[in-house]
Amino acid sequence: MSTPSLDFDPSAVQLPQGHFIGGAYRQTDEAQIAVLRPSDGKLLGHVPDASAGTVDFAVSNAHEAWKTSGWATRSPRERAKVLTRWAELIDHHAVSLAQLEAVSSTRPVAQAYASDVPFTAEAIRFFAELADKLGGDIAATRRDSLGFVASEPYGVIGAITPWNFPLSMCSWKCGPALAAGNAVVLKPSEMTPFSTMRLAELAVEAGMPAGIFNVVNGRGATTGAALTRHPDISKISFTGSTRTGAVIMSDAAMHGTKPVTLELGGKSPQLVFERVTNLEHTARCIASGFIANGGQACVAGTRLIVHRGIADALVDAIKAQLRNVAAGPLWRSTTAYSPIISRAQAERIDRLVEESRASGAEVLFGGGYFEDTDEGFFHRPALLGNVTSDTPAVREELFGPVLTVQTFDDEDEGIALAGHPIYGLAAGIHSSDIGQALRAMRRIAAGTVWINRYGRSGDMIIPTGGFKQSGIGKDLGRQALEASMRHKSVLIDFDAM
Ligand code: NDP
Repeated sequence: MSTPSLDFDPSAVQLPQGHFIGGAYRQTDEAQIAVLRPSDGKLLGHVPDASAGTVDFAVSNAHEAWKTSGWATRSPRERAKVLTRWAELIDHHAVSLAQLEAVSSTRPVAQAYASDVPFTAEAIRFFAELADKLGGDIAATRRDSLGFVASEPYGVIGAITPWNFPLSMCSWKCGPALAAGNAVVLKPSEMTPFSTMRLAELAVEAGMPAGIFNVVNGRGATTGAALTRHPDISKISFTGSTRTGAVIMSDAAMHGTKPVTLELGGKSPQLVFERVTNLEHTARCIASGFIANGGQACVAGTRLIVHRGIADALVDAIKAQLRNVAAGPLWRSTTAYSPIISRAQAERIDRLVEESRASGAEVLFGGGYFEDTDEGFFHRPALLGNVTSDTPAVREELFGPVLTVQTFDDEDEGIALAGHPIYGLAAGIHSSDIGQALRAMRRIAAGTVWINRYGRSGDMIIPTGGFKQSGIGKDLGRQALEASMRHKSVLIDFDAM
């Protein structure tokens, strides 16, 4: 099949309007939030800023639909059929979804089409296929009893997603929640709300009962907080910063002791030992690991920890990988590099780089912004040397294309440097000695470890989630479906009857 032309006119894209509640778009007379195009900073459209009343309306709708629509009580295979149709519709609308994502987020249209949209469909398909594969357990009880653990949906799950991969994040949260028989009310980031609303519309077209998947727009501190605190929200699933994750956890604790799945920040190392089979391959992994999506990925590998013996050669090979990176409008299919989402985020990156330089860091390569991109913030990939574990760019999640470089002399020192005092989301290990790589894998506290590669594959069975302050619980994998259900223990004394 030939690839369709993906170039498009950004002013011609149709934007969903309002909120998506009870199976339909709802306009309200609430204050409007301006949404800018990250590619050039121009005004794209508006979304309403949901009040607590609108959140209540959405949650009540979801709760009623959950109780009465039959979604929770039908067999998992029947739910799977709807989810599969939803995935097919996402594939069918791949071009328009990729264009919507490209105009309103940091994703270049070619990448949105080649990975974000198909991965979104695949994640939903994966949870559809898994829906009837996880039952409860039969317990080893006395012979005259039968003990088992029955799994059941929570009810209405509140999901809060960030701006970095809006389509994928929506599928990671909704796929397991809906497959397990829950209803969902999702608040996307107010910077990237549109593709999530379109997914909700497609879910209804696929046969999902109205009210089972709802989207409310608004700001985190108000709309997001109202969602977390709502008494009919039984569980929260969130992806975003560690700071906001902590606020949500505290809100969930204070308003109903609700379970939470939190996918939070990271400052992931790429540990390179002296012997690697192919230095150019390693350099490619490291470069793509820290510049993908302009560095705005929770798992970005932004700390290079390299053996002193190969440090110069590797840094040169990484620079060679970065020389052809170029900015361009996200609606041009040749663009392969992402802008920073907003001026505020660009200022945060600049501040952390400046603070790092003030503490002695040296810019080894790149930095600053590509010119001629209107008001878009296309940050040049940058390498920072002469850093320590206390340098702000080493310590803090910076969420931009900035790689710090540290060297080591022996295995223990390398592994110690790869550790981080608060984060433990992902780690890359590069070595041609598999024993050495596995020793390091055992000792590094990270929820995901990639050996001789960096980045996820399309294997949805592999869960993702962090250790330490990088999060609680997992997205994807069997674990995400398990976490979308509560487990009821049942014991029957059948001989006494
Ligand atoms: P946040 O974590 O603040 O935002 C993520 C989502 O949470 C958004 O939808 C946000 O809404 C919402 N939110 C914010 N406050 C609350 C609250 N009190 N209750 C409920 N929901 C809330 O990330 P930012 O966008 O502010 O980015 C700041 C930094 O966070 C980045 O520089 C990066 O380091 C990190 N980050 C990490 C991500 C990851 O994948 N690990 C993803 C995004 C950011 P709203 O947008 O309206 O504030």
